[in-house]
Amino acid sequence: MIRYHVLTLFPEMICSAMETSITGRAISKGLLEIEAVNIRDYSDNKHFTVDDYPYGGGPGMVMKAEPVFRAHEAVKERIVSPCRTIYLTPQGRTFSQSMAEELAKEEDLIFLCGHYEGIDERVLEEIVTDYVSIGDYVLTGGELPALVMMDTISRLQQGVLHNGESAVLESFSDHLLEHPQYTRPEIWHEKKVPEVLLSGHHKKIAEWKLEESRKRTMQWRPDLLA
Ligand code: SAM
Repeated sequence: MIRYHVLTLFPEMICSAMETSITGRAISKGLLEIEAVNIRDYSDNKHFTVDDYPYGGGPGMVMKAEPVFRAHEAVKERIVSPCRTIYLTPQGRTFSQSMAEELAKEEDLIFLCGHYEGIDERVLEEIVTDYVSIGDYVLTGGELPALVMMDTISRLQQGVLHNGESAVLESFSDHLLEHPQYTRPEIWHEKKVPEVLLSGHHKKIAEWKLEESRKRTMQWRPDLLA
């Protein structure tokens, strides 16, 4: 069981995505909990503004420190033990399956989603424990990266996937990409499913899968084998 606390300016984006499909089912079953906290609710002025011009000039707006700090304090009051606060940023360590495996052991995780040009550095220095990027490109906000991370971490929680094995035998386990997958019909567009998969011979099927995994990894992601 893991609890996610997401600090965001767009809570509806987080809730609608997480309450859909497999993660939605896991939330209904009590295997995951999610709260999306609107940083705007912690604004310190009557117009509920949460951003301002950057000192020193430059384009765009910067999210102010105080509303982020207050939202974070409010969440921390509801969490008993110390917990990691992850700031989604293109400048962070790149997210990976192994990082997901490590984070999946936590009971609570706080995700901080930036917007505009980012967040005032001073509050990041006070509250953030991990700086994480989902890749070398720049998005408009941290909500999609937070969703990517929560989706990946959720699949690793006990009971979230129906077939408990499927999270173990997937791409990136053992530094390999997964073998190709097929389903009915047996022939589609004159392409036949590999004979061995119809043979019922478990040992041969396992060998075929491993061989295909190796071939595919060699061809598409040789860096994983290194
Ligand atoms: N000015 C920032 C910079 O150059 O590093 C980029 C700000 S970006 C437009 C706005 C927000 O989107 C960031 O604060 C961060 O939360 C999120 N974001 C954008 N790209 C991301 C990525 N690749 N990984 C994680 N978060 C990202």
